[in-house]
Amino acid sequence: MISVRGMSKLFGKFVALDRVDFDISRGEKIVVLGPSGSGKSTLIRTLNQIEPHDSGTLIIDGKLINAKTDPIQLRCMVGMVFQNYNLFPHLSVLENCILAPMRVRRMTRMEATALARRYLEQVGIPDQADKYPIQLSGGQQQRVAIARALCMQPEVMLFDEPTAALDPEAIVGVVGIMDELAEQGITTVCVTHEMAFSRRIADRIVFMDQGKIVEITPPETFFTAPQSERAQNFLNQML
Ligand code: ATP
Ligand code: MG
Repeated sequence: MISVRGMSKLFGKFVALDRVDFDISRGEKIVVLGPSGSGKSTLIRTLNQIEPHDSGTLIIDGKLINAKTDPIQLRCMVGMVFQNYNLFPHLSVLENCILAPMRVRRMTRMEATALARRYLEQVGIPDQADKYPIQLSGGQQQRVAIARALCMQPEVMLFDEPTAALDPEAIVGVVGIMDELAEQGITTVCVTHEMAFSRRIADRIVFMDQGKIVEITPPETFFTAPQSERAQNFLNQML
């Protein structure tokens, strides 16, 4: 599904991603962990080319992806949910959800609305469709952001710390939705500090440090017997 070889990303002279290699199978759930500044966000942002990589190859669904890839085509394939929701403030919840499916997927307003209502129902806020983002709590806004991404029916979903800006109660709600999505088998790459969640849903953990992938292991191994010293130190700090 996703194949990455020798992928690097520089900011000026700073190497944010240093020749990373990995493969993700269809339906797989990957959780990316690592200290602050290790390149986790940069890694997932290259997957939808918000940050184009500088060298190496990225293949998604058999297609070679780079800065020349049509961003619209790519966004149809790879959806992303950010820490800060990034909803359009001047659009209602429903309009936030149907805009891209209508413009990009060329759905009719009726088709897009039906789909949006289905996903708003799934994320537990079917009755908020006509509100504006500012009228919603953080947790509700994040649910809208997830529903909006799902409305594009992407093959891959990227999450960058989707619960980081939420209070504990809202975190439980959003983690519950992520659990449900995981069960539905959509290919997922998620950066998160929710360790219990990672352990529960991850097929594999990608552990990063200083722009490199240090280890890729199943969660059982990672949390009980991490192979690298850097991962051991990281886990000790989390406790
Ligand atoms: P955190 O856990 O704090 O979110 P992270 O692992 O997601 O950290 P990244 O955001 O990927 O880390 O950043 C990796 C490194 O690249 C950091 O040192 C950061 O300062 C640098 N970096 C990221 N984006 C840019 C940018 N647009 N310009 C310059 N440097 C950047
Ligand atoms: Mg980050």
